[in-house]
Amino acid sequence: MRQLYIGGAWVSSASGEAIEVVNPATEEVIDRVPAGAPDDVEVAVRAARAAFPSWSRTAPAERAKLLAAAAALIQERSADIARVIATDMGSPYGFALKVQTLMPAGVLSSYAQLADALPVERRIGNSLVVKEPVGVVAAITPWNYPLHQVICKVAPALAAGCTVVLKPSEVAPLAAYALAEIFHEVGLPAGVFNLVSGRGPVVGEALATHPSVDMVSFTGSTAAGKRVASLAAETVKRVALELGGKSANIILPDADLATAVKVGVANAFVNCGQTCSAWSRMLVHRDQYDTAVRMAVDASSSYVPSDPFAEGARLGPLVSAVQLERVVHYINRGQEEGARLVTGGTERPLDRGYYVEPTVFAGVESGMTIEQEEIFGPVLSIIPFTTEDQAIAIAEGTRYGLAGAVWAATEDRALGVARQLRTGQVAINGGAFNPLAPFGGYKQSGIGRELGESGLEEYLETKSLQL
Ligand code: NAD
Repeated sequence: MRQLYIGGAWVSSASGEAIEVVNPATEEVIDRVPAGAPDDVEVAVRAARAAFPSWSRTAPAERAKLLAAAAALIQERSADIARVIATDMGSPYGFALKVQTLMPAGVLSSYAQLADALPVERRIGNSLVVKEPVGVVAAITPWNYPLHQVICKVAPALAAGCTVVLKPSEVAPLAAYALAEIFHEVGLPAGVFNLVSGRGPVVGEALATHPSVDMVSFTGSTAAGKRVASLAAETVKRVALELGGKSANIILPDADLATAVKVGVANAFVNCGQTCSAWSRMLVHRDQYDTAVRMAVDASSSYVPSDPFAEGARLGPLVSAVQLERVVHYINRGQEEGARLVTGGTERPLDRGYYVEPTVFAGVESGMTIEQEEIFGPVLSIIPFTTEDQAIAIAEGTRYGLAGAVWAATEDRALGVARQLRTGQVAINGGAFNPLAPFGGYKQSGIGRELGESGLEEYLETKSLQL
């Protein structure tokens, strides 16, 4: 069994218990990590607290140098790390390399640069306004982008001068272990970064309630995020939440329909649909509806459930048996409520592994369960609209507001619609994801923003010095 990383050393968990890590493509146990206990959290928070005074006063350029060295090591080991991610959560290897590994390496280097630009101070009349690190940060992360989600928190926190206790997802924890090894090798001072693996209700809740934790930054489901926020309220911690989504891809009638549908399908199925910002609802004008459905079915046929290491693989397994059960439940629910399954729907199409075929539903109406709830699998719902206002109303008709897309003949028209959406990110005519732009949710998709300067500000406190 692996060990926890606390105070600059690998140590055994007080629980002595293990969590098995399963390869979702083979259903085999590939590793065992400690099921951390509240006592481990206590030791880790104490280590982070002890390291804070010195780390927060370390010159930002020195912090930047360590972060840059860690980013360079991720790059150097990218093939190995991508293999780990493809094995413990099932992303196709090519995607695991480019998006799951090299992108977070880039995000880490961006924070090395931002750390170099600290401190940010300004004068307001007779006041000098200074920014200081928040303190000890608890980072709780999910399994779907297991390195990226960790770096989105740990990189800005460390750049700002905070110290961190990380609890990665128990479902795919191995990338976080690779990162801990890298931080150790580059010589991050003891206690600045600590890793306590384990279950949410045990390790996560111990962190959210701990009085010496100043901030909890959580990415995961809306249900668990609400629980974390309510626990953290007891000690008035700062809380950042990156939660679920049910994003709408609005294709206006004058758009390039073929491109919009093709890109929309790709976005819905990437990472086997296990992406918080996935455009899981495609909104198409009624006059183009049947054509768009046909195009979506055609596009789906190139997503063949495959081993993550197969040449050209685009669709791996879902992450776990639990996730497969959840996705199949929603596929059944869609049919029971009268939506039309136009392709896919079959579970376990291969001999082994938690696979499901890419699935498209037509005849989906707003208010249906599959239109409202985050499925987190390769399941696309296509919904008709008649007017632009109706499209906006449907897009807005869920409790979420994380991402979305608008396609139109002109950028101006698409922007006009995008500005009316209460959602954190909108792609205009297929605009690419920008890992330096603020990312986060309106409504029940979250509180706060990650990435770029906005991500750094989350980890800074403000002090006014009257002169
Ligand atoms: P999850 O909520 O089950 O778990 C996320 C993390 O929270 C895990 O580390 C888990 O152990 C921990 N956790 C669970 N219950 C907890 C509790 N009571 N107290 C403290 N910690 C607890 O989510 P998941 O299944 O790992 O990830 C999928 C979800 O994450 C989806 O809803 C997805 O939309 C969301 N997500 C959001 C973003 C974003 O940036 N908005 C990014 C990725 C994933």
